[in-house]
Amino acid sequence: MLTPTTPLEYVKGIGAERSRLLKTVLELKTVGDLLQFYPLRYTDRTRFYKIHELSADLGEVQLQGQLLQVEEVGTGRSARLVATFSDGTPQMELVWFRYSKWLKAQLPVGVPVVIFGRVNFFNHKFSMPHPEVELLEKAAGSAVLEPVYPGSEKLQKRGITNRFFINTLRHILSFLPSLMPENLPAEVIRTHTLMDRAQAVFYKHFPPNMAILQQAECRLKFEESFFFQMGFGLKKLHHQVQSRGNANPIVGDYFTNFYNNDLPFELTTAQKRVLREIRQDMKRPIQMNRLLQGDVGSGKTMVALLSMLLAADNGFQSVLMAPTEILAQQHYAGISALIQNTGLKISLLTGSTGVRERRMIHQGLADGSLNILVGTHAVLEDVIQFDNLGLAIIDEQHRFGVAQRAKLWAKNKLPPDILVMTATPIPRTLAMSFYSDLEVSVIDELPVGRKSIITAHRKEEDRTSVYEFCRDEIRKGRQIYFVYPLIEESSVLDYRNLQDGFDHLKQYFSEYRLVMLHGRMTPAEKEAAMAEFASGKCEIMVATTVIEVGVNVPNASVMVIESAERFGLSQLHQLRGRVGRGAEQSYCILMTGEKLGKDSRKRIRTMCETNDGFRISEVDMQLRGPGDILGTQQSGVLDFKVLDLVQDEELIRSSKQAVEDLLKKDPTLSTPANRMVREYYVTHYRGRNKWSKIS
Ligand code: ADP
Ligand code: MG
Repeated sequence: MLTPTTPLEYVKGIGAERSRLLKTVLELKTVGDLLQFYPLRYTDRTRFYKIHELSADLGEVQLQGQLLQVEEVGTGRSARLVATFSDGTPQMELVWFRYSKWLKAQLPVGVPVVIFGRVNFFNHKFSMPHPEVELLEKAAGSAVLEPVYPGSEKLQKRGITNRFFINTLRHILSFLPSLMPENLPAEVIRTHTLMDRAQAVFYKHFPPNMAILQQAECRLKFEESFFFQMGFGLKKLHHQVQSRGNANPIVGDYFTNFYNNDLPFELTTAQKRVLREIRQDMKRPIQMNRLLQGDVGSGKTMVALLSMLLAADNGFQSVLMAPTEILAQQHYAGISALIQNTGLKISLLTGSTGVRERRMIHQGLADGSLNILVGTHAVLEDVIQFDNLGLAIIDEQHRFGVAQRAKLWAKNKLPPDILVMTATPIPRTLAMSFYSDLEVSVIDELPVGRKSIITAHRKEEDRTSVYEFCRDEIRKGRQIYFVYPLIEESSVLDYRNLQDGFDHLKQYFSEYRLVMLHGRMTPAEKEAAMAEFASGKCEIMVATTVIEVGVNVPNASVMVIESAERFGLSQLHQLRGRVGRGAEQSYCILMTGEKLGKDSRKRIRTMCETNDGFRISEVDMQLRGPGDILGTQQSGVLDFKVLDLVQDEELIRSSKQAVEDLLKKDPTLSTPANRMVREYYVTHYRGRNKWSKIS
């Protein structure tokens, strides 16, 4: 009797040698492992092609017809056996190299056969090397989708062929359904019209047709997503019970007066909606844990400010943390100007804040007289202690590590509400799965009057016309960014490129003033350079990616990105967000080399086609995979067997809903109908998701 934990060496027909290979090469140890070792693809043995339908990219196909003649061609090394095959339409050659005499005698001439193999297109002719040839009467019974298992050359030589997998799995699968008991509640299966588990596993290996294969995959994906979501669902419940937080019931004068008198523009509908969501969270005596996604320029800062005013109305201090000194500075300058009339006190704390200033900040934070602190990660230091921190906002979340964020929690007796803001939209599927324990708000609308940025791809031969275009724009009063790739902070070569670029541009645009900005400058130098550009004293800024995040100069309307093929998609999108911030039509010009790889081409094309950050993030995920998007070793957790984060948005959504509904009715999964869900979760999933708490 087989069980899912039976070691493979005890399965009939596998043997010690092969089970050792399965373990070492494919990490397959048990019957359960093998059951979930799914085919890579299927060859369609239900369909017969005609010779005139063939094309070079079809891969493996089968045809019906007969062999007209078989002959040996060539001698020595080029000796081969060639059969002429016809199905009534033009003829095709079947070729065997290094064949045996026996094969020649075997080939059935003049009777109906089925041939199966990979088509080759050479010299304007189709041929098929080393096909399988079978008598039609024999082949008729086996017309199905045949699974192709991931294996390797090395394994095939040692007896682990595709045929081996097919036979072994047929044997194992005869022990269903006891091997694969149902793990989803009957109600979920019914509502979502899912195939049952054992059936799905069987059909995933041996589907009779595409439609059934799809249903089987659907069920398996749903299951995989369901249990992944279950971890987050349980944690969220736990979080709501455990993480008491401060309550902000009042909408008071700070908020109301500012909103009525000092708001410089009408909020967009999306900003209002998001603000409402935040207010609902902050009201409750439970810690807020919210991710705010909004494309560059969508106006997240104002939402942050209004949330901080709300905290102030309830007697709480707030902190706003930005990833770079420039950005912190800019937030500080912008926000202090806006809140002038409120009487609230605000300070800036960064690595370069002086000792005296620092002391005053410590004092103001401790006695509660300082209401808002803006800063870099300097605000995380242990010496920074608040009187009553109620709200912590983290801008451009992807730049901070988990450990840094966790430090914010400890800054108050009751953990502060957390709002994480990011302009790098995370693909919806990823947000739904990976950040499932966070509430997510989305600003999906730009302020009115913004013209969308025009993006173009140019090459070296266009350089002069690009420069002349820039010159025209400067004459119209605009400012220009030139951005050089800086892949590694320590790369000497990259800095030399930047310097060369700067010198070159300085010569070309000799009538204008240029300023340089890069990561090796001191904070004071950077600030001076930024200030010069922002004030309009110089027309051109030549920079590395330090300007990527947050920098706001509305009059800059053109960005030229050099060696754009060296940048990642999300980085290009971030960079582009530095223009298009004012009323003028803005442009982003992507300069690349002559030859581009497939992925670079796709990146550049995507940038030219769309300004939609979500769309871009989805392409980015297709290109790099979900693990890389999250940017860490966390990728292993996203190694799904069947689920595809790029394609299965709908499924993820419905399984997430199913989990939420289930937990609402039965939070401890203890009714008889749900007990197996709990058992399955505990044995297979618990512990896998621990690391994921992001703040
Ligand atoms: P991001 O979401 O990229 O951080 P910002 O908060 O920096 O965007 O906002 C970009 C620009 O848009 C700022 O100059 C800001 O003052 C302006 N802005 C924000 N909201 C609105 C609005 N509702 N109407 C007009 N301009 C707005
Ligand atoms: Mg911002």
